[in-house]
Amino acid sequence: MMRVYICPDCGWMRMVSRRKNVECYKCGVQDMTLAKVDFATYVSWSEKERQEYSAAWMSLLSMSLQLINWFSPLRIGIIRMTVV
Ligand SMILES: [Zn+2]
Repeated sequence: MMRVYICPDCGWMRMVSRRKNVECYKCGVQDMTLAKVDFATYVSWSEKERQEYSAAWMSLLSMSLQLINWFSPLRIGIIRMTVV
């Protein structure tokens, strides 16, 4: 089953099947985040819709990080998993 992952640093998205650590080929992040969009939905999107999703996801993530910027890196990891 294919899954859609998104990079928490640059917002780049890719489709992956059954892998634990997913690397971003654009910026080199080793641990991309599982996006909350299913594969069938993602492939039905146009390039523009994918970019809009990525931009919305990134702004949501940065808002969350600003709110909790006094927390530990561990907690930021938890928030990242929560917002996507
Ligand atoms: Zn990236």
